[in-house]
Amino acid sequence: MQTVLIGIDLGGTNIQGAAAVNDTIISKDKLATHSQQGPGTVIKDIAKLVLELAAGKKIQAVGLGLPGLLDVDKGICISSCNLGWHNVHISRELSREIGAPVLIDNDARVAALGEWSRGQAKDCKDFIYLTIGTGVGSGIVINDHLLRGPSWSAGEVGHMILNPQGPECACGNHGCLEALASGTAIAREGRAAAAVNPTSLLAKNLDAIDAASVFAAAGAGDIAATKVIDTAMAWLGLGVANLVNIFNPRLVVIGGGVSLAGEELLAPVRTQVNRYGMKMQRETVTITTSRLGDTAGMVGALELARRGLS
Ligand SMILES: [Zn+2]
Repeated sequence: MQTVLIGIDLGGTNIQGAAAVNDTIISKDKLATHSQQGPGTVIKDIAKLVLELAAGKKIQAVGLGLPGLLDVDKGICISSCNLGWHNVHISRELSREIGAPVLIDNDARVAALGEWSRGQAKDCKDFIYLTIGTGVGSGIVINDHLLRGPSWSAGEVGHMILNPQGPECACGNHGCLEALASGTAIAREGRAAAAVNPTSLLAKNLDAIDAASVFAAAGAGDIAATKVIDTAMAWLGLGVANLVNIFNPRLVVIGGGVSLAGEELLAPVRTQVNRYGMKMQRETVTITTSRLGDTAGMVGALELARRGLS
C-alpha cells in the first residue's frame, strides 16, 4: 500500500494542509479555523482534512505547526492566544482520530523548516527565518541545527526589547520588536497618524487601515504613512542587525504578510544592518524575502513529519 506524509499549518484563521508521496506533494487544501467552537471541533476538522488529503493511502506521520506555547515532546499545546487553547493534548487527540503519529512544533519554526527544505534557505546551514505578520516569530538554524531550547521557546525574537519606553506589547513588556514592527503595530500607528493628519490618505478609510494599506499610502507619497513605515522598518532593521551580530547567519529570510512589501521592507532593513552590523557579520549575510510565502508552514510541516520518521 502506498504511504503518505501529511503536513498541516494550523493558524488562527485557516488550516492549510498537504500530502506528499516520496517528497512530491500530491494534494493540498485549506479550511477555515473555527477556533471559537473549541479545540474539539478544530481537531475534528483537522482530522477530516488529513483523511481527505491522504485519499485512502496509509498515513505514515502528520507534522503540525501551530501558534503558541508548546510541549513539543509530549505533543501538548500549553497555551495559544490565537486559538484560545489551554493544555490541549493535540498530538494524542488528533492521532486517535486518524490512526497515525502526530508531531508538533511552533508555527514560525515549522515555516523555517519549510524554507530550509524547499525554499530560500535550501542547503543553508546558518540562517534565520523571520515571520512578520500579526506578530513576529522566528526559526533559527545554526550549524545545521534548528534551535528549540529546553522549553521549546527559543527564537521568540518578537519579544526582543528594543525600546523599553516604547508601546506596550501583548507579552506585557514595552517596546518589543513585535510592538514596534509587526503588521499589528504598523496598523496601530497608521490609525494614530490618520487621527492627527486628516488630509492623509490614511484618513480616507480609517476602518480599513492595515499594514498593507499603510505601505500602499507610503508608496503613493503620503507623508504621514511614510513616517509610520520608516519608523517601523528602522526598528525592524535594528532587530535584524542585533540578530545578525549575535548569530552570524549567512542568510536572513523574511516571511509573513508584511514581507509582501518586498523591497520597501528589504531596503531599510539592509540599511540598518549595514549601519549597526559588525563588519564580519554584515559582510557575510544576505537578507531576502521568503520564497514559499504563506505555504512555508505547510511545506515545513511535511518536513517535520518526514524528520519524525527518521
Ligand atoms: Zn513582547
